[in-house]
Parts: sequence; structure tokens; C-alpha cells
Amino acid sequence: MIAHCNNKFCLFNWALFLIFAQVSNICYASDKDNIAEDQEIITSTTQDNEEVKIAPNLDLKEVAPLPKPVITKPASDEVEPETQEETEEKIEEEVTVETEPDIDEKKYPEATAVKEKPEREKLVILGSEVPPATSTRLAWSPQVSISGLSLPTPVLVINGANPGPTLCLTGAIHGDELNGIEVVRRVMYDINPEDLNGTLIGVPIVNLQGFQRGSRYLSDRRDLNRFFPGEENGSLASRIAHSLFSEVISHCNYLIDLHTGSLRRTNLPQIRANMSNPKVAEFVEGFDKIAVVHHAGNPGMLRTAANNVGIIAITMELGESLRIQENQIAAGTHSVNSVLEKFEMYPRVLIWGKPKPAYYESTWVRVESGGILFSQMGLGDTVSIGDVLGVVTDPITNQSTDLKSPIKGHIIGMAVNQVVMPGFAAYHIGIESNQEEMVKEDEENLDVEPDGELDPE
Ligand SMILES: [Zn+2]
Repeated sequence: MIAHCNNKFCLFNWALFLIFAQVSNICYASDKDNIAEDQEIITSTTQDNEEVKIAPNLDLKEVAPLPKPVITKPASDEVEPETQEETEEKIEEEVTVETEPDIDEKKYPEATAVKEKPEREKLVILGSEVPPATSTRLAWSPQVSISGLSLPTPVLVINGANPGPTLCLTGAIHGDELNGIEVVRRVMYDINPEDLNGTLIGVPIVNLQGFQRGSRYLSDRRDLNRFFPGEENGSLASRIAHSLFSEVISHCNYLIDLHTGSLRRTNLPQIRANMSNPKVAEFVEGFDKIAVVHHAGNPGMLRTAANNVGIIAITMELGESLRIQENQIAAGTHSVNSVLEKFEMYPRVLIWGKPKPAYYESTWVRVESGGILFSQMGLGDTVSIGDVLGVVTDPITNQSTDLKSPIKGHIIGMAVNQVVMPGFAAYHIGIESNQEEMVKEDEENLDVEPDGELDPE
């Protein structure tokens, strides 16, 4: 070819070609080297010869780029019906497989059964192995959006040096509930894996779609917290719920789902828990002084679905949606830390005496006439019978109506100042109780709407 090159232009082209070929070769070789090196470092093989990525050990306090999701097989593929022997072998070898058949069969064990964590097994989550005494950022992708536009959801994992339970923290299942996001960050980024007994898994923002729009709901206007444990082939919300539940939640022994008041209401830091479940009641005992309101939970809520498969789950309510509230975040962080200490997962030298929550029965005070509500009381205030909680003024007739407390108690939740219509539930009054009474009187409970939508979690 070069022999036929008898002009300058042709020789120049030939020279360019040679240079290009050389550079391409170098790039290709160096890519190959990198890939080979990466594979040596980050992959390992499980006992059943499945190749799993080893998650990089990251100091979570360090700023780091967004993790990339590992696309795993759908959970249902892993739980195809197997022979008895295969099933028994797998149960011995894998952490995740234990609960997944329950999810698909939709036949849940008794809520009181605790999912015991087996002896120190490999922690393999979202396609990566997280070795003991390391922490990492992984990514969960529910695979429901346009694949080119899909946004991975970060999942923080700290696998402690020592054995212990797995505690999960989920934030912003409602995309406009922001306080919990910061609680997850403060708790997770303050843990040294070397001193942790057990595992912490944190999903700071579950509902990224809603978070980006400042909305409680998913992009199809559904409430994600009504679709757990979800269905693989269901609606968008149901698919997201199923993916989170099978890929992340199924690893948890304990779960704290972080929320705020909704529909322009704010909540004193409080736990909503099914106190008739003895294991849940025992878990709640571990929280430092925080209000506890008994509520069995509605079908579709994450904590209900988790309880149904033996995961001990509660909801923690902190403040108001669309706001970042330092006092609420500090209280929530303190409360989660108190549980870590109580269950000896992460001992700290915290001075609070004996952790003990305060149990409440509760009732709602509703507005009788429409208008603009101005509160005269605040969250946590003690009220007596007849105390004026707030005043509603009709902006046209100028008529004002006092809203009075029908009982003695504490304000554990309330509406922010706003326009209200008759029947609007404006103040949530808690009456100190004890655990037994609270559960016993649940049936005739004062004013909890059966659909639970009064102050929806
Ligand atoms: Zn919520």
C-alpha cells in the first residue's frame, strides 16, 4: 500500500493512520490492564460459585461519587421452586433466601416470630459482598423507569467487625419528608465499623421521584407506603415496593422507618408501633424518652409488611414535611443512637439514665367551623380540660371560634397555621398511659380513623 503512495498527501494520511493505530493499541491495552486489575480486586466467589463484587471499603465521612447499581436477577428468579435438598442447602448458605419465599407466597409467619440472624454469614446485598469491619455505599435500582434515565438510589451499609443484628433505617418513603434523611446521615456517618456489633443499613431517600419534585407521592401519584411488600408485576408503586422489600428490607432484623407529619401537620418526635406484638414492644423499650403511640398499622405500610414477615419494625415521626428541623433531627438521631446502645450494637458513653419511652393513648381535636387557624399552643405543651388550643377566624364574617382541649394531656401532633374546614383534625392530644392499658383500650380507641388516614404515616 505504501509503495503506491507517490504524493505528499497520501504519505501524510498513512502517517496519521499509523499514529492512530498505535494510540488505540495503547488505550486498549491499558483498559484491559485496568479491567483485569479491577476484577482481581473487587470480585469474589460465593460457595455456590456465583461471582459477587466485593464492595469497596469507604469511610462514609469522606465525600465520594455516586455508586453504580449492580443489576441483580429479580428476586423471584432466586426463589424458583426447588427440590427439598436444594432448598435446605441454600438456607444454610445464603442470608437472603430465608425470607424471600414468604414474600412471594404472601403467607407470612406470625408477626411475633423474630427473624433470627444466623451465625456470622457473608453479607451479600445488592449484588455486592460487604466484608466485616467495612462500610460502603451501594446502589439500589428498582428498574422501573426509562432505563437510560434511571437514577440509582444510594444505600449505605456498615458491616460491623462483630456479630449482631441488622438494623435498617429508611428515610423519605414520602419524598417531601426530609428530617429522616438527615437522621440517617448523622447516625450512619458517626459509626466506626470496627466497634459495631451487627450491621446497619441506611436508605436515606427511598422515594427519589417524590423527593426531586418535593412531593409525598411517586410520579404516578401513588403513595408508596400503601404498597408493601409489593408485587413484581404490579403497578409502578407495587414494583418499587417489591424491589425495595426483597433486595434491601429482607436483610433487616429491625427496621426504623422515618417519617414526618403530613398534610401540613407537625409531630412531636414519636414512635408509631404495634404494641400488641411483644417483640415490637420489647424493641420500643430500647428507645430513650420518646412518645410512643400504639397503632397496629395499615395494610401496605412498610412497617406492617415487615412485621408480617417477622422483621421488628416501627415508624418514627419527626416534625413537619418539606422542612429541615434541627431540634427534630437531633431528637431522632439521639433516639436511634439510644437503641443502638440498648441493644449493644454500638456502645457510646451517653448520659441519659435508664432509657424509657413514654406511652400515650391519643385523641384528636377537630375544627367545628371553617376559617384561618392560629394556634395558641405548641408541640409538647401540657394542656388541661378547657384550655384554648387555637382560634379559628372566619375571614369574611370576622367570627372567631376557640378550639378547646377536651382532656388533660400533651400535644403530640398539630396542624400548622392554615385555612381549615369544619371536621379538620387539628390537634393530636396524647394522654400518658402504660403499655398494657394502651393495647387493651385500643379497640375503643378514642378517635383513630379506621383507614388511618387522619395523620397518615
Ligand atoms: Zn410519611
